[in-house]
Amino acid sequence: MRDTNTVIPLHQSTEEPRRFKVFTAKQLDKIEPLQRLDEDTRFAMEVVASVLPFRVNEYVIDELIDWDKVPNDPIYQLTFPQKGMLAPEHFDHVANAMRDGDKDTIKQAIAEVREALNPHPAGQMEHNIPEVDGEKINGIQHKYNETVLFFPSQGQVCHSYCTFCFRWAQFIGDNDLKIAAKEAGQLKKYIQAHPEITDVLITGGDPLVMKTKNLRAHIEPLLELEQIRTIRIGSKALTFWPHRVVSDADAQDLLDLFREVIDSGKHLALMAHYNHWQELRTDIAKEAIRRVRDTGAEIRAQGPLLAHINDNADDWAKLWQSQVELGIIPYYMFVERDTGARHYFEVPLAKAWQIYRDAMKQVSGIARTARGPSMSSHPGKVEIQGVTEIKGEKVFVLRFIQGRNHDWVQRPFFAKYNEDATWLNHLEPALGDSQFFFEEELAEMEGE
Ligand SMILES: *Cc1c(COP(=O)(O)O)cnc(C)c1O
Ligand code: SF4
Repeated sequence: MRDTNTVIPLHQSTEEPRRFKVFTAKQLDKIEPLQRLDEDTRFAMEVVASVLPFRVNEYVIDELIDWDKVPNDPIYQLTFPQKGMLAPEHFDHVANAMRDGDKDTIKQAIAEVREALNPHPAGQMEHNIPEVDGEKINGIQHKYNETVLFFPSQGQVCHSYCTFCFRWAQFIGDNDLKIAAKEAGQLKKYIQAHPEITDVLITGGDPLVMKTKNLRAHIEPLLELEQIRTIRIGSKALTFWPHRVVSDADAQDLLDLFREVIDSGKHLALMAHYNHWQELRTDIAKEAIRRVRDTGAEIRAQGPLLAHINDNADDWAKLWQSQVELGIIPYYMFVERDTGARHYFEVPLAKAWQIYRDAMKQVSGIARTARGPSMSSHPGKVEIQGVTEIKGEKVFVLRFIQGRNHDWVQRPFFAKYNEDATWLNHLEPALGDSQFFFEEELAEMEGE
């Protein structure tokens, strides 16, 4: 165990804790370090910020971004919109409207481009909407047997937005305890009707933007359910706002809630979204991790592989190693999904696997726990296990980490090697097969 006496609680230090201050697209000109960029760059940022998510807080600006490295700084790329994130024709369409259009023209141009960017990938909207007593309920997604995903309506924003994210298509947010209670009731009913569910993954947006009392309203009813063994909270707060568990007014209350979950005998995992080791360097980021771990909760790390941010093996090795040293368990390396500014961030599957492998080679087994590179695709989570040759044919070896049918899990299968492919739908069956083993069954499931 760590010696707790050596840690000076930040809330007892003489410095005032930082207050949460956030900038959105309308306040770009208020962000001081941007003033050193030239006018073209700033206009381009305004254009892109009108289409893609933009929201960044002062902690990220002051302490995570190294402004001497801009534009190549990874956290700058993670949070600040860049011209290349829109296709040239989309960029010009919105830029022209902004230069000489009226309000309505601009609004329409933005809406057209957004629609063209596949705001709801992997059939997220049409599929997987569950029912309780014949009533469709929003905010619950049950795709894999043992785990139900829950999107509380109050957790649909984040402390900052990632430029590659398109979940904001659903960002709304309303801080009403009554809504929390109603949703929690529906979730509980749904789980009780499905004895196969053992895990709840509360996600968003970021559920930790919620006040603790609202999060408590969601979590406490789950503690009464014997069938629930694990509660996960997906969050990027440990990166974007570690103050959430250190100095916010209800930080201690949140840590107490975590302890309550542990004391009830369930596993609590904070599924922390990390993209770069630079996010782990500040004192407050480390203090936040310590405090969460002191409650008995595990922190597991996951995040996508992204061009311009972390598309090299050295950064991943350093990220995993830093996580391990801070007591975090590396969990997933994701392939960037088919939406939003994907052409800017995407990394071919062949290269993704190479990076994964080269990073793995640099760390010991303790840091080799991240599975991937994994695609969260319509049939399931598909991992690229490697590239090899079978009887003279170069192939990708793939497997399901999760499948719409749980019988597909861990089944290896093969696809023709394709150097440029960036997603499952670019791949073709190998070794003379006319389709992948799961395709017929998937089509049947669709037909239902
Ligand atoms: C990843 C994921 C889960 C959790 O899967 P694990 O393999 O248990 O981490 C659950 N539901 C959906 C829709 C997911 O994408
Ligand atoms: S923290 Fe997660 S949900 Fe929020 S913008 Fe980033 S990727 Fe999207």
